[in-house]
Amino acid sequence: MADLDAIVREIAEEMRERPDRGEVASYIPELARVDPNQFGLAVIDAEGRVSAAGDCDAPFSIQSVSKVFTLTLALGKVGDRLWRRVGREPSGSPFNSIVQLERENGVPRNPFINAGAIAVTDVIVSGHKPREALGEILRFMQFLADDDGIAIDDKVAASEQRTGFRNAALANYMKSFGVIENPVDFTLGVYYHHCAIAMSCRQLAMATRFLAHSGVQPSTGRSVVTRERARRINAIMLTCGHYDGSGDFAYRVGLPGKSGVGGGIIAVAPGKASIAVWSPGLDAAGNSHLGRLALEMLVKRTGWSIFGP
Ligand code: GLN
Repeated sequence: MADLDAIVREIAEEMRERPDRGEVASYIPELARVDPNQFGLAVIDAEGRVSAAGDCDAPFSIQSVSKVFTLTLALGKVGDRLWRRVGREPSGSPFNSIVQLERENGVPRNPFINAGAIAVTDVIVSGHKPREALGEILRFMQFLADDDGIAIDDKVAASEQRTGFRNAALANYMKSFGVIENPVDFTLGVYYHHCAIAMSCRQLAMATRFLAHSGVQPSTGRSVVTRERARRINAIMLTCGHYDGSGDFAYRVGLPGKSGVGGGIIAVAPGKASIAVWSPGLDAAGNSHLGRLALEMLVKRTGWSIFGP
């Protein structure tokens, strides 16, 4: 394999040149203002070497990428009891779909579609004031990324709170089945704010390291989750991390990954590397267009697909 720094640099250069950038998310007004001509990539190998290029230090709205970390926290709180509140099957529907909730008694298909992530957030909120629950999520991100400077973009959170009628519908519908325990406004408020955490590719790749290394954050040697739990979170990322684009992502990239409508994607090459890529333009399924292409190129050049070189 060629030098990782060179590969990352070349991918960033190639992505900058491409005319096809996708469309920025416009249903959250604050995200519609983001310049689509940005691209960042950061890869951290098993030894902790960082290869990064492009806008790798620019903070962006992590949106649904946060759902990996809230899932990790909720599993830490209630363990496998979480699976009474949310399933773990791919949905084959858009990220904000409501149809399956009716068929399945208000239990969302997986923790990464909006309904599932709202149910997971509700588990974190239980027993706390919303502010404390949010503080816990933010501190967890800061701890994982080893960076106290990570913050929430309140403008993005407020923008989504004002316009989040679909999420409110999902939450109220789940509440009618008893899947949401707390006042809907509490849970939604925490959900919007953790989606609005702003991080760079470098920070996100750092925060994802424990999933690439059997639950241990290698730079500190501290165990974040058990080996088994890390493996299982990766499995859910592979099958559900890109909504109804998850099959295509597995086909093209072949790594567990999670996208967000801010244009970020995290991906895990088990035992080898953690990766974060960002480009705000999205494809039809709401996943970063250039982000996915960049990961496809990275995997081609490194042979890191979990399905073989
Ligand atoms: N906060 C966004 C929403 O609830 C997250 C969606 C996403 O990133 N796919 O719609």
